[in-house]
Amino acid sequence: MDTYLNSNEIISNFDEKEFLEKYGDKLKQYIKKIIFSQDFREGIFEFDISDFLSSYPEICEINDYIVLNPTKVESAIRYVFKESYLELFGDNETIKREVEKIQIAFINPIGCYKRIDEISAGDINKLVKFEGNIIKAAKVCALLKRACFVCKNCGNIQYKTINDYFSFPKMMCNNKNCGQEMYLDLESSTYVNIQELEIQQPIDLMKNPDDPPRSIRAFMENSNGIYSGRVDVVGTVMKKLTRPNMPVFEIYIKTNHIKLNESYQKIEVRDILNKPDLIEVLNELGSKKGIVDILSQYLIPQIKGYDIVKKSIFLQQIKGCAKFLPDGAPLRRDSHILLITDPGIGKSTMLRKIARLFPQNAYASVTTATGGGLTANVVRESTEIGDGWVVKPGVFVRANGGTACIDELTVDRNVMRYILEAMESQTIHVNKGGINVKLPAKCAVLAACNPKRGRFDPNLGVIEQINVPSPLLSRFDLIFPLKDIPDRKKDEEIAEHILNTHIETATGKYKILGPLEIDGIVVDENILKNYIIYARTCAYFEENTALYFGEVDEKKLKNPVITPSAKKIIKNYYMNMRKLGEGDNPIPVTARQLEAAIRISEMNAKARLSKKVEDEDAKVAIGIIEECLNQVAYDPETGKYDIGKAMGQLPKSKIDKMDRILDIIRELCALSDDGLANEDDIIEKAEEYHISEKEVEDILEKLKKSAEIYSPKFGFYRIT
Ligand SMILES: [Zn+2]
Repeated sequence: MDTYLNSNEIISNFDEKEFLEKYGDKLKQYIKKIIFSQDFREGIFEFDISDFLSSYPEICEINDYIVLNPTKVESAIRYVFKESYLELFGDNETIKREVEKIQIAFINPIGCYKRIDEISAGDINKLVKFEGNIIKAAKVCALLKRACFVCKNCGNIQYKTINDYFSFPKMMCNNKNCGQEMYLDLESSTYVNIQELEIQQPIDLMKNPDDPPRSIRAFMENSNGIYSGRVDVVGTVMKKLTRPNMPVFEIYIKTNHIKLNESYQKIEVRDILNKPDLIEVLNELGSKKGIVDILSQYLIPQIKGYDIVKKSIFLQQIKGCAKFLPDGAPLRRDSHILLITDPGIGKSTMLRKIARLFPQNAYASVTTATGGGLTANVVRESTEIGDGWVVKPGVFVRANGGTACIDELTVDRNVMRYILEAMESQTIHVNKGGINVKLPAKCAVLAACNPKRGRFDPNLGVIEQINVPSPLLSRFDLIFPLKDIPDRKKDEEIAEHILNTHIETATGKYKILGPLEIDGIVVDENILKNYIIYARTCAYFEENTALYFGEVDEKKLKNPVITPSAKKIIKNYYMNMRKLGEGDNPIPVTARQLEAAIRISEMNAKARLSKKVEDEDAKVAIGIIEECLNQVAYDPETGKYDIGKAMGQLPKSKIDKMDRILDIIRELCALSDDGLANEDDIIEKAEEYHISEKEVEDILEKLKKSAEIYSPKFGFYRIT
């Protein structure tokens, strides 16, 4: 057995022998138990320190040994593991070679949690635990992990674990009579996957969210490839020479263990769980009448009026219920909202605030973002390992589980296909530079833009006023114009608000949202956030919380269920609206609006902490859909709803007029000598059908664009 004790790995200030004498037996008992447990993965021993100490609390100092000397303790634990393994499976050469390959990883260490900006030179060679977002991920490579050295002189075989990535391993024969430099047998050595990552401090863990976030380089062993998301990392702080002849080092992390925080709710829910007083406050808030309206107002105080719009945005943050088809495919639970705002409404300020509400929310303006910046970029960049191709997750991926706030949606039509793809599939497919991976992008979209002609005109279809292709437009559940109509009282309030913001910012008193009192309960930004998180897990908080301590399986989450009566209300509304579209009438709603109504009613039920989706939730949902249809799908000329008008086709009344103008042109052409129709004659004739001169001009423009007519000379037209 002595050959397994590698003298190179025993370090002077940590006495491996003493450590093994003290803890060897207990470690052995534990390791044998793990080897036979279901959790044991072939080839890797994940030493769960917290779990170990729950069985052996009397030797809790072992945690400190690990945190202060992770590399050295790893070697000692490897020794115990090998002994245990050989005792269990027999001491022969095959087993010996097999056990040499085992990886040791530490998970759940105690007392070494740090924020990324707290990791410093003093932590070198120590174990740390931190969390962050992956902002850059390279291709997976192979790392020589257990180097097998053979002495050509005496035949001695020695193994060495590679912990330093920046020098090639060498070894001298430890046979007393030999001492020759050994030969590295690459064939008999073992390898693990390794991936280089850059991990950034999340905004919720920043002292000042306005500071540029810090990031750290991490090398992740045993990685099958991880490219996006928020991760919990346990690793050893390592150093790398910056220049060959200077004792100055760069810090990086050799990760022992990395875990994806897959659920957007997980961290926050656990946080709330530890605070029973807070839960009490939230439950009390939830029982208040009109709480959804109050909190919606509180969320977006800077915009006066537009209560329904604010409520929609508030509910969007709560999210609908996670549901899955029998084949496991998820149904979209997010509501996508588009705001068409007149200049001066303050859309960018509002979007930024929503983006800062939760760490999973993200903001981007199409004025500066590229398609790749919104979805994901695969670029060649200098990395320590690999061939330089790295993935950089974009806004939709960073907003996975949250809301992507997309400002100035309409300024660049080229990026819209990226946005459409992201909204459609809720994943981003990357395939470049040998990296082929799908990144999750399950997020709500809150987009905003200005109307083309400066101000929103309720007489024109949405599609005519913003530069968004119809397929993308139809992805939005809700479209609301926000109009800037001068109003003395409103203007005064806005002036007051803007001035206060400036004064508070200058005096350092500015908080995103000031406190609000509801029947003796003081609601501040923190309570608001917690309320939203709490509401997201539904009234089934207690039933669902058990899931947050293990792997969250969203399929097992309990959700509010629609009552038969609420179902009937939504169904009746839909059927009645559809009825309006019978015969020659325009189609007022489609199944998309029905789905949106279901989602919104679920959100409203969750928002008031109800276990059921009841009549009032159905009514709120219908109210919101109706407001949206009134704003964008109501054709004032016919007095009818026309979803086609909102989502890309022209209103039926306009199509009728276009047909009429075409008929007039056809008639005039037939009557004239040169086969052309004079514009003045068209206008005169159109008057008989109550089509104004302005309308005729518009229609002629449209017909020219769609190549139904052409103009061989100024002021004259011909049918193509
Ligand atoms: Zn030798």
